[in-house]
Amino acid sequence: MALRINNGEFYAIDAHSHLGRRKTPLGHGVASFLGDDLVRNLDEAGLDCAVAFPLGAPYTDYSESNQIMAEEMAKHPKRIISFCRINPNFGPEATAKSLDHCLGTLKLKGIKLHPEIEFFDPNEAELMEPVYVAARRYRVPIIFHTGMSSKASPGVIAELAAQHRDVPVILGHMGVSEYVKLAVAVARQNENIFLETSVVGWMPLLLEAFRGVGTSKILFGSDHPYNPLSMEVEKIAKHVTKAAKLKEDDLRKVFAENFLAIVKHDR
Ligand SMILES: [Zn+2]
Repeated sequence: MALRINNGEFYAIDAHSHLGRRKTPLGHGVASFLGDDLVRNLDEAGLDCAVAFPLGAPYTDYSESNQIMAEEMAKHPKRIISFCRINPNFGPEATAKSLDHCLGTLKLKGIKLHPEIEFFDPNEAELMEPVYVAARRYRVPIIFHTGMSSKASPGVIAELAAQHRDVPVILGHMGVSEYVKLAVAVARQNENIFLETSVVGWMPLLLEAFRGVGTSKILFGSDHPYNPLSMEVEKIAKHVTKAAKLKEDDLRKVFAENFLAIVKHDR
């Protein structure tokens, strides 16, 4: 499997997708989407591998979903890199315990947080401290949903990220729209903050990000299955590549190397 861009072939990782079962469909009608579905779509899109975390399920502690993530990764170890999803509102002790289970026992490879769906402030030190402590201990990154809400502002996230410089922090969707400039600013100011490309769709903002932080700090992501893989791949592989004049080196970084520098993965 390889992604073909112009005349080159690229090992390609999607840094943002979702798996799981829900009682009711969300958004684009997705109620159940598991590893086999994801792998089939990766094959179609020419992607080698995807980071996946649970679909949003507000008010739950994600213990059941995180178990599913481990099972799906075990079925497709080369193709799926599972992260756990945590709801910090269950309190610092529950968070620490859950993260020890997910990262220590289930060996999940990172932590996903959604400040809007789980409704917490990512600069609330008491709730967030165990997350950063576990990320450091298990050497995994944290990916935050950013944008669409002031609770998910890159500026609010950067406050604690700046105090934990050894923990890689990925800003999912790089702020989506009105927060992209702020996402670029905090990524420039903090060595440990990276930007992920899914959902943001206005070319001038995407180009501002690529020019502002450089291709060493940008990770390709899709937010599949909410967004079609081909749409998100084409956005970067075709349109941004052309407009920002990306070279082969840049594409290798954005589609794989930047991620592989943060998360160990056996190709
Ligand atoms: Zn997502």
